[in-house]
Amino acid sequence: MNLHPVTLIGAGPGDPELMTLKAVRRLGEAQVVLVDDLVNPEVLAHCPQARVIRVGKRGGCRSTPQEFILRLMLRYARQGWRVARLKGGDPCIFGRGGEEADWLALHGVPCEVLSGITAGLAAATAAGIPLTHRGVARGVTLVTAHTEDGSAPQWAALAQSGTTLVVYMGVAKLDEVAGLLLAGGMAGDTAVAMIENASLPAQREIRSTLSGMCAEAAAQRLRSPAILVIGEVAAGRKFGVAPLVAEPTRLAAQA
Ligand code: SAH
Repeated sequence: MNLHPVTLIGAGPGDPELMTLKAVRRLGEAQVVLVDDLVNPEVLAHCPQARVIRVGKRGGCRSTPQEFILRLMLRYARQGWRVARLKGGDPCIFGRGGEEADWLALHGVPCEVLSGITAGLAAATAAGIPLTHRGVARGVTLVTAHTEDGSAPQWAALAQSGTTLVVYMGVAKLDEVAGLLLAGGMAGDTAVAMIENASLPAQREIRSTLSGMCAEAAAQRLRSPAILVIGEVAAGRKFGVAPLVAEPTRLAAQA
């Protein structure tokens, strides 16, 4: 029997309109949809025909073990169903998409991965922050503050990288992140934006500095899910509202 490829779909950061046309098409074709945490249930309007199985840990349920999800996905695919796996943001940015694709391949099931807008990029845009603003940041680094094995990113090296840092899963680790970046030589007055529930009606934005961010987050009760944007581009100004750089480019002079 020719098996249908399992489609790993990036559902985007939360706003149901921030999903690709291809994702919408695949959802419309799916017979079984396995839905992860942080996926806005509104996107399920695109698959009324499908059997929807929630495999996330929110809403009081315990986390569904990853192994169980993998087996479920394989079972349905082997039965000949069209299976879609809906994941928050982009499937392969801190979303285990690569592991799932590998596992399917190992078991002889083809797989297709559809990119989604990852929360870090969406959060910055929603807050009016141009992550690689020319002349201000030379790049952007997506990094997680939380790892399953407890290992940490090389914060000291990141402090020196000259790139904007976009930190996922950082709410419970603010002290550690700030402390290690400061110890690594990043200036205490480096701008920080903390964006909670990016792209959703409940979006909140908290602006601070590297040395002030822990106190500010505590005062304003920052909650997960949130993204931290650390770097000069996160300074108070916003695109579309006030220019980030006083004399940004030759274009401004010509305007
Ligand atoms: N694959 C996802 C990330 C999963 S890790 C993606 O590409 O976006 C989960 C982390 O993503 C959360 O702890 C939080 O840091 C971030 N996140 C997801 N959705 C978010 C949102 N709407 N607003 C802010 N942060 C979000």
